[in-house]
Amino acid sequence: MIFDYDDVARSGAYFRIISRVMRIMVVLICAFSLVSFPALAGGSLEGVKIFIDPGHGGSDPGAVGPSGLREADVNLRVSQVVANCLSEYSGATVMMSRTDDVYVSLGGRVQAANNWGADRFISIHHNASVNRNYNATETYAYYYADGRAVDLQQKVHKRLLEGLGLPDGQTRTAGFYVLRHTSMPAILTEASYISNPYEEARLRDMGYTWREGYYIYLGIADHFGVSPQP
Ligand SMILES: [Zn+2]
Repeated sequence: MIFDYDDVARSGAYFRIISRVMRIMVVLICAFSLVSFPALAGGSLEGVKIFIDPGHGGSDPGAVGPSGLREADVNLRVSQVVANCLSEYSGATVMMSRTDDVYVSLGGRVQAANNWGADRFISIHHNASVNRNYNATETYAYYYADGRAVDLQQKVHKRLLEGLGLPDGQTRTAGFYVLRHTSMPAILTEASYISNPYEEARLRDMGYTWREGYYIYLGIADHFGVSPQP
């Protein structure tokens, strides 16, 4: 086949049309991603490394509720929600100390976070008391926590109070191993008391634990000054 000038001119026109169509497609794809992921439009945690530590697990059930609900299982469910929200809604990079019902030593948890170079460490627990009527939300930081840890503690605590509506057990300081030995700002949540029969029943509900995880996530987002929401 021989090309004459008309063919060349025509193929140039086709090329221009194809490149215009491709440009339009790129614009449409970008617009579609903004619609699908409005979270990223409100600020993102891309590049931020957050370590989520579900307390206990395996041979260590943690506290056990009046009808047998294990703290380790509740901690894991809430932690998975926090981790999913962080990565899906805000683009943060998340590592967890465990994703299953396995035993991980406190040293192993801290070492994993320190070796990874996490920017923040959030340990998730539920409290217990011999007084079964007692219930409250408490959030801990180390005695000598720096300003960033205290800010994270306050923001998460405020959101937990808002999300769960339980009595305010205050932000507190403690010398817990994971707070003392982590090399990044770290907090530990005790969102409620699993020893309270009413609370234990609520903690069995997936919607309720989702809510707890989501509000912890909102507190983390507040701390970083972003408002990525689904
Ligand atoms: Zn615990």
